[in-house]
Amino acid sequence: MRCITLYIQMKKKVFTFSRIFSAIAYVPMLSLGLTACTQDEIEEYTIPCAQEGHVHAVDLGLSVKWACCNVGATSPEEFGGYYAWGDPVEKDSCIWTKYEWYNDSIEEIIKYNDLDGKTALEATDDVAQTLWGDEWRMPTQAEMKELMDRCTWTWTSVNGVYGYRVSGNGNSIFLPAAGSQYEDLYTSQGSQGCYMSSTLYGDDYELEICLGFNKKDRYTINSDRCDGHTIRPVKK
Ligand SMILES: [Zn+2]
Repeated sequence: MRCITLYIQMKKKVFTFSRIFSAIAYVPMLSLGLTACTQDEIEEYTIPCAQEGHVHAVDLGLSVKWACCNVGATSPEEFGGYYAWGDPVEKDSCIWTKYEWYNDSIEEIIKYNDLDGKTALEATDDVAQTLWGDEWRMPTQAEMKELMDRCTWTWTSVNGVYGYRVSGNGNSIFLPAAGSQYEDLYTSQGSQGCYMSSTLYGDDYELEICLGFNKKDRYTINSDRCDGHTIRPVKK
């Protein structure tokens, strides 16, 4: 039943939008809807902090502790908000002209650009810090890499939501496969994750760096700064 619901929701979303991308996105989403029903049984993961209220800082034995929830979520499996890089206001459509650091009249990015040379978000522009307070912030690319390289990643589900259990030091967090928001289209929900870092891609100031994953793999991926991605904060 859950599989059928997932498929219908995705199909409806795809048909809602007319841009070319949606036509391309339809094929993998269709196959996802079908394969989700036939994939091997995976063990449902129970969140250790499920009964305690959130948010918690989880010690995975890394240089920072990781939050148990995404920004904008009230539980570990909830997707939460989709944010552009350094922009705490969610958008109906993630496009350059609505992006905090883009000046439409001159068609230029006005901060973190090739003029100022800044490639790391300042605290005042950090979405996690802005929305959650001083002790939390977005992870850097290096902290993302640490999470990828030094933890055990297990594809699982929590309350029917697919994602990864990421374990280390006897503890774990759950990263839901929340997908991304491109313009007004939410893509790959249930099949991919794309978590935003506070680090800009050095060779092109229009791109920021994300930790991406699907059922088979984890990887670093660049994305336009105006695209909407989920955020999993860290703290010392
Ligand atoms: Zn928690």
